[in-house]
Amino acid sequence: MPRRTLVTNIGELVTNDPQPGREGGPLGILRDAAVLFDGDRIVWVGAASDTPEPHRSVDVRPSSHPYGANIDGSPAHESAAHESARHESAAREPARSGRADASGATPPEPEVVDAGGRAVIPGFVDSHTHLVFGGDRAEEFAARMSGRAYEAGGIRSTVAATRAASEDELRARLAAFVVELRTQGTTTFEIKSGYGLSVADEERLVRLAREVTDEVTFLGAHVVPAEFRDDPRFRDAGTPDAADRAADAYVDLVVGEMLAACAPHAHWVDAFCERGAFTPEQSRRVLEAGAAAGLGVRVHGNQLGAGEGVRLAVELGAASVDHCTYLSDADVAALAASSTVATLLPGVEFSTRQPYPDARRLLDAGVTVALASDCNPGSSFTSSMAFCVAVAVRDMGMTPAEALWAATAGGAAALRRADVGAIRPGTRADLVELDAPSHVHLAYRPGVPLVRRVWAAGEPVAD
Ligand SMILES: [Zn+2]
Repeated sequence: MPRRTLVTNIGELVTNDPQPGREGGPLGILRDAAVLFDGDRIVWVGAASDTPEPHRSVDVRPSSHPYGANIDGSPAHESAAHESARHESAAREPARSGRADASGATPPEPEVVDAGGRAVIPGFVDSHTHLVFGGDRAEEFAARMSGRAYEAGGIRSTVAATRAASEDELRARLAAFVVELRTQGTTTFEIKSGYGLSVADEERLVRLAREVTDEVTFLGAHVVPAEFRDDPRFRDAGTPDAADRAADAYVDLVVGEMLAACAPHAHWVDAFCERGAFTPEQSRRVLEAGAAAGLGVRVHGNQLGAGEGVRLAVELGAASVDHCTYLSDADVAALAASSTVATLLPGVEFSTRQPYPDARRLLDAGVTVALASDCNPGSSFTSSMAFCVAVAVRDMGMTPAEALWAATAGGAAALRRADVGAIRPGTRADLVELDAPSHVHLAYRPGVPLVRRVWAAGEPVAD
């Protein structure tokens, strides 16, 4: 029998499922609420006083917000008659969810968890990380923060350390990161390759990432590796386009043998469309080849300057274009008219002392915005979505509600997922109980570990 859990006495439940009578606009906030999940799925959301179970071991205060959702998703506008009908139907509820056995046995009573009036939010959805790598770049960070030039090789130093690491070392490090994410409330996360940059090394990274998440992105087009950059075939001519020719030759490898090796383990393809990385033409080649291989498209763009990343992403119907720090009015308009999510990565600007992207401008234009960590050893070595929320509120013009939505439902949109990022019947039981009465505390109390309890797919996450 799958585990059944009732989380009740929730002072503020952020559902991301707005309905009449709920507060907070898109957050769909319910007060004095409860959530029931059966195995890995949420089966009921509503007022704690309306809990559809015969057994309630926790005294809950009467709700002043008598709105919920039935298991079929229809709103439950309660009345006394409706209430008694609901009790009658409670025993039949498992049959409606398709989980009762043929004997019609009643389901086991749920484990009851008292949230003590605290806030509960959907698990964070981190739609952009680079979590499989070797080494770290603390010295580079310290030098940057000291205003000193740092001569070591940036991404290429991580590529060298990653290639030198054994598969077991990478797997153990990744497992530690997964614990780090989950205990901080991140229950869905994407992982990109991009520190291998050879056929065998990229294949190894996507394969390892696939062991811990379905959301794996092939990012062979991260940077041009040293062996191509330094290849005398491209350098000896001494022409200004030598670097372009090295990149072209590397892209030939990416769209050929490397894509063929990585696509079976990946769900997405990505390219770093930026001056110093790949041109729009090279990025297009990679993204179109990935799409032809059945992968969804994502783009790194407009991080370091105005470029064509956003336009390319929109034209190709990308799920997301990530960074979006430097945008023209045309870029904003194109995003607003598209289904492409603008994913903002505040940890990067924080850790590199660059100007933050203007989330307000995007939101006011009607663009769907996601927040993600970009967790990587060079430009943003944080896995804390709460930190990203706090920075987005402090420095990017987002309200606490907008930032939380972007870090949960926005991330789900960036991954084109309807089963995560919201708390409603049918979604995966990914919940975070905060040690706070309100989601506002995520930004109001920056740096404080407010995650009290986490359930991922219905299972408690050990801390
Ligand atoms: Zn990135």
